[in-house]
Amino acid sequence: MSNFKSPGFTCWLTGLSGAGKSTIAIEVTRALEQLSVPCEYLDGDVIRTNLSKGLSFSREDRNINVARVGYVCRLLNKHGINTVVALISPYQDAREQLKLQIPNFIEVYVDTPLDVCITRDVKGLYKKALAGDIAEFTGISSPYEPPLNPDLILKTHKETINECVEKVLTYLHNQGQIR
Ligand code: ADP
Repeated sequence: MSNFKSPGFTCWLTGLSGAGKSTIAIEVTRALEQLSVPCEYLDGDVIRTNLSKGLSFSREDRNINVARVGYVCRLLNKHGINTVVALISPYQDAREQLKLQIPNFIEVYVDTPLDVCITRDVKGLYKKALAGDIAEFTGISSPYEPPLNPDLILKTHKETINECVEKVLTYLHNQGQIR
């Protein structure tokens, strides 16, 4: 038997604020833990309070944020710890860099229409952004570039949370990432 531990995977959920990224990521992480699959959940909001504290929401700083999280994922994956990430990550170029740097990178597009996200307004941020009180808010005053060729698309306005979670787990299973 080889002593080499194969690299883990990074399951990266991208999409608008309120799309459902963290809800799905938390449930996927929970399911993986129940399967005894080593896993770390990296949440965009939490990252901004520590790893990326002080970064703005400019294009450059958002891409720096994405690159930093990708770097952490790569380190963890190298040691066999899988990562599940919930981060808006709105720019295509930064996501393309992740694909080059992370060996088992899975891009999950949480494809929830803007009007649904606005109706949900989980954190009340859309109301503020639409009133002009938040600059550079994705989907309102800052762009979101949809993935061109994601590994998986989740439509949370048509599928339940459980269905979305199952889709991710099935994908990981079919790809041989989990048994
Ligand atoms: P994000 O992390 O993308 O900003 P959240 O996960 O915080 O979004 O919020 C998504 C909201 O949408 C939650 O209130 C969640 O309960 C709701 N929701 C409804 N249907 C789904 C679904 N199929 N998948 C994920 N979230 C859903």
